Amino acid sequence: MKELYYAQIIVDVPTMQTNKPYTYLVPESMTNTLQPGMRVDVPFGHRHVMGFVVGLRATTDIPISQLRLVTKVLDLTPVLNTELLNLSDYLAQETFAFRISILQTMLPNALKANYERVLSIIDEVDDDVANRLFKGLEQMTYNASDFGEQDIALLSKLRQEHKIDVAVTVANRAKIKTQRAYQFGEDIEFLENELQNLRQSAKQQHKLLTFILGHFGETWVKKELQEVLDVSDAVIRQAVEKKWCYITQVELLRDPFATTDISPTEPLPLNDEQRNAYEQITGTFDSGRFQSFLLEGITGSGKTEVYLQAAQHVFKQGRTVLFLVPEIALTPQMVRRVKSRFGAQTAVLHSGLSDGERYDEWRRIERGDVKIVVGARSAVFAPLDNIGLIIVDEEHEVAYKQTDNPRYNARDVALWRGEYYQIPVILGSATPSLESRARAQRGIYTLLRLTQRAGKAQLPAVEIIDMKETLVNGPETIFSDQLKEKLLDRLHKGEQSVLMLNRRGFSSFVMCRDCGFVPRDPNCNLAMTLHMDSHTLKCHYCGHEEPIPTICANCGSKRIRYYGTGTEKVEQELAEWLPGARVLRMDQDTTRKKGSMDKLLQKFGDHQADILLGTQMIAKGLDFPDVTLVGVLNADTALGLPDFHASERTFQLITQVSGRAGRAQKAGEVLVQTFNPEHYAIAYAKHHDYEGFYRQEMAVRHAGNYAPYYYTVQIQASHADENEAAKQMLQIARWLKKQAGSDIIILGPSPKPIAKMRNRYYFQIILKFKQRDAMDEHLQELQDRSQKAKDGFKLSIDREPVSFM
Ligand code: ADP
Ligand code: ZN
Repeated sequence: MKELYYAQIIVDVPTMQTNKPYTYLVPESMTNTLQPGMRVDVPFGHRHVMGFVVGLRATTDIPISQLRLVTKVLDLTPVLNTELLNLSDYLAQETFAFRISILQTMLPNALKANYERVLSIIDEVDDDVANRLFKGLEQMTYNASDFGEQDIALLSKLRQEHKIDVAVTVANRAKIKTQRAYQFGEDIEFLENELQNLRQSAKQQHKLLTFILGHFGETWVKKELQEVLDVSDAVIRQAVEKKWCYITQVELLRDPFATTDISPTEPLPLNDEQRNAYEQITGTFDSGRFQSFLLEGITGSGKTEVYLQAAQHVFKQGRTVLFLVPEIALTPQMVRRVKSRFGAQTAVLHSGLSDGERYDEWRRIERGDVKIVVGARSAVFAPLDNIGLIIVDEEHEVAYKQTDNPRYNARDVALWRGEYYQIPVILGSATPSLESRARAQRGIYTLLRLTQRAGKAQLPAVEIIDMKETLVNGPETIFSDQLKEKLLDRLHKGEQSVLMLNRRGFSSFVMCRDCGFVPRDPNCNLAMTLHMDSHTLKCHYCGHEEPIPTICANCGSKRIRYYGTGTEKVEQELAEWLPGARVLRMDQDTTRKKGSMDKLLQKFGDHQADILLGTQMIAKGLDFPDVTLVGVLNADTALGLPDFHASERTFQLITQVSGRAGRAQKAGEVLVQTFNPEHYAIAYAKHHDYEGFYRQEMAVRHAGNYAPYYYTVQIQASHADENEAAKQMLQIARWLKKQAGSDIIILGPSPKPIAKMRNRYYFQIILKFKQRDAMDEHLQELQDRSQKAKDGFKLSIDREPVSFM
């Protein structure tokens, strides 16, 4: 075998210069162990940093004298496989991020580098320092939180006087939990002899030794051994003394969902539409091709059953499945459904896990102990290496996009992995994103439609309540008379209701209470956002700003109001006129604690409450047979989003929440309260008509030069000096204009809606363009150049941003 002496290493120093691998010399002692995907400790400048080995070479052009040696290997086996290493390269380009930050994102926190600072005494220091701070030792690990300010100042002074030294080393944070186990035997003849010589009366020992012989060479955890054999501790202890077996440690993997008892389910016979979808997906898998499917199925049409049966098909061929959901905490029922079908071979990755638990799950996946991984956004990097199917449920959800660095979209990553493995990828939704639906139109995705509810359930009737009319008869209220009446009726019948108060994005805007008019900006035709600090309305795209109007531009009314209300206020009002009702409130406040959402839902499912009142988090995935009424209190908040997706989000929200009603035998009913009853997003949602909405919204997007007709990129920059930030952004805008000419629409630069944070000034430019490849080159160049600028100017580039706050 050819020895590989040179390692290509991505170092943990996020700058442009280090985005390409550095070459290091591999010491002879490591040539047999070091593999791509392992983490190492390497010298870098005057310090030590963590690095990822991305390649090994037998030769190099760089003179040996200029190379430094790898100091330490941090892993026993690679933590990233070849596929994920390749993916990191692609993603760094795609998201304008550093490769090191992508590599870090792919790993559980427990595997992230932890730098330890070790202080050592190198000259005479006084007794106080030696005894009190260093506790009589020569060295100590420095942890800033262990010391008061005075001591820190003292240490820093000693450092300047060269009396102590600071060395930084890379520590491995991942601690594998172990438990005691027994390794059976070394010498089978010896054991057989022992068995023959054993006294007949030693029944327990006889039983254990026979078992050991039957499982020679295996390792058994004590607990499991005792479960199977029912032998006492003393008997096992004797076995160790007699050298029948040896004590060892095995990795302890906890399963955070193991305690919830889940009853197994069997596949259901598929209906025709489901069968067609299933056959196309599994047919693609069988032929070993990459193909993306857009599974557009109304709520309750049985998309999940298609996912589960397609997954089953893939398992039979020994392949694994990656199943993404927007947010595990919001879809506990989905997790339960997957677990009840596939049992312990399911791994669940979600944000509620502690670092240790997450690492355990990650290890189970990496060791090949699971068949299916269910998880939210970052689970798309699950270290499965034999994937046969990828599912992205609720593919339209913005939660798939990471809003800070690295700004990846898990849906795109899923497609990349699908292509790598040449397998089917299912994007499922009742309300696909316009982008995905348009791709299906162009034949890039295969469109599969489920148009009927599975089983016997019917889609609920949706009634639109015009809230302007409630004002004619009295003071402003949260509840229309119609909604009050229906809630009472359900209460009498002992049926359940869900009330949704949309508070997405915390955006506030003003709306005329007489005609529902929301002021829009003259350039972009988008709802403007209310800024109380400056008493203005601002467009979050182009920065247009104007005073808050006192008179409605549409109808002349003076009743222009700030729009927005909290769940607590609704709860209070409910208690006033419906004192007998048992209400569960589900919002960010009541679900902060780990597992609390699951508990609330369980409670509601057990009929311990009549009304579930919540924010948009309740719109998703819930499946309660006794819910026969869904009320949307304020459909307009989504329309007021400062974003061209406002109509799309409104349609999605109403459709999703309507899907919660009448899921079983009892018919469901939905009431939507709005000041804009004629808005097309609301009208199409009333008729459950996604295709109609899609066609109209495409026309609106076309007219406004928005996605999917144009790509959108947001450039953000900040500087401590406001003028400097503005000046540099102007130069960037000019430069882009010169590069791209008429191929590009540039909005801004303008101050960000929240222009100043932590003494830095923020500006943004929004780009709209059609030629992606050409534009990417300019953006890459921009990124490179801004990296080299050393005057405190910071820039970030966000492709297809999902929020403009
Ligand atoms: P979706 O994921 O599209 O919202 P679900 O998968 O939750 O729909 O299905 C809705 C309900 O219909 C579930 O209770 C499910 O068990 C049931 N269901 C799904 N497929 C079938 C089928 N082929 N026959 C009978 N019931 C089905
Ligand atoms: Zn604008």
